Amino acid sequence: MGAPVEAAVERSAECALATQRLEHRRLHAACRRTEDIPLPHSRGLLLVRRCGCDCHQKPGTAT
Ligand SMILES: [Zn+2]
Ligand SMILES: [Zn+2]
Repeated sequence: MGAPVEAAVERSAECALATQRLEHRRLHAACRRTEDIPLPHSRGLLLVRRCGCDCHQKPGTAT
């Protein structure tokens, strides 16, 4: 309660840290969560959700 709502996107640990700490911003490059990883033997379930960090937005594809 009372927490800011700005962190609506779900980031990987690397990107979360890189976003929070300027001295760790290079960790964006270490993030490998660029696509959804489906849970094996299941349909529609995700094991790992794609990282929503802005650093993965490709230039030219923005709305
Ligand atoms: Zn990032
Ligand atoms: Zn990321």
